[in-house]
Amino acid sequence: MRALVKEKPEPGLWLADLPIPAIGPDDVLVKIKKTGICGTDAHIFNWDTWAQKTIPTPMTVGHEYAGEIAEVGAGVKRLVVGQRVSGEGHVVGTRSRAARGGRYHLDPETRGIGVDIPGAFADYVRVPAFNIVPLPDAVDDELGAILDPLGNAVHTALTYDLVGEDVLITGAGPIGIMAAAVARHVGARHVVITDVNPKRLALAAEVADVLPVDVSREDLKAVMARLKMAEGFDVALEMSGAPSAFDQLFDSIVTGGRVALLGLPARPTLVDWNKVIFKQLTLKGVYGREMFETWHKMIAMLESGLDIRKVVTHRLPVERFREGFEIMRRGDSGKIVLDWSA
Ligand code: ZN
Repeated sequence: MRALVKEKPEPGLWLADLPIPAIGPDDVLVKIKKTGICGTDAHIFNWDTWAQKTIPTPMTVGHEYAGEIAEVGAGVKRLVVGQRVSGEGHVVGTRSRAARGGRYHLDPETRGIGVDIPGAFADYVRVPAFNIVPLPDAVDDELGAILDPLGNAVHTALTYDLVGEDVLITGAGPIGIMAAAVARHVGARHVVITDVNPKRLALAAEVADVLPVDVSREDLKAVMARLKMAEGFDVALEMSGAPSAFDQLFDSIVTGGRVALLGLPARPTLVDWNKVIFKQLTLKGVYGREMFETWHKMIAMLESGLDIRKVVTHRLPVERFREGFEIMRRGDSGKIVLDWSA
């Protein structure tokens, strides 16, 4: 089968010919139709410090996928060959207190598909049946391939009640944009999304009914005045990892405001904790998706009018994967989806 592999510890990925994985009794073999390129995959492609520390070689990469079940293990019930599916890319253990308590997303023994164990950028991927999420007709293969990042957005956005709230989202990458669409869908009042990249901000306004703000040109305080917001944003979702965004966020959030943090800073950053303390803020770090509440919520929202289709800006056959990573590197694309069906 075809597989996109980090064959050696240096920049790049290689389209290799590998045997179809054998599955265990509790696994499912998925025939891949479409995959999404994630920021994680770009880190692995570029072979940055994080990737060098984290990825053993050779490793088949990729964790955002949709496909069809090709084989089920002997012990697998309620899943059948031919079913359209996506799946959770975090493979959890069963021994930790968190996992035993059903809080799977907090399991410290988590392994990542396409990071620690062979990934989904291949014609076939082996996945524990536990991780499989069947797709309804309303979610086609392209949407199915981006449920993983949509899940990041949904997990972050639904951390706090957004009904009638003024929401600030710092960072207009694909996940920030999808979080903005979710905030609008669940009934926020003002949804303001910030970035310094005009193309990303334009895409945000195309995907969702949100107010894009280029913070290199306009001050958030002026925007708040324009919206007649007297006290500040009620909820902030940090999606950029940019140190300047933390400052803007803490300056423009209301006293008693709530903050969810998903963006990963490239290096340790300075935070003025006085602002956090005097404003009595609530902070929550968010990673991955809740298994499987986030999956249930996002599929339910997609079935009831949440429309994030336009966040997919590029569609390429897998053979042109290098072009996809090149586009990612330029930093002004939405999601890039690779097609494996040919
Ligand atoms: Zn991802």
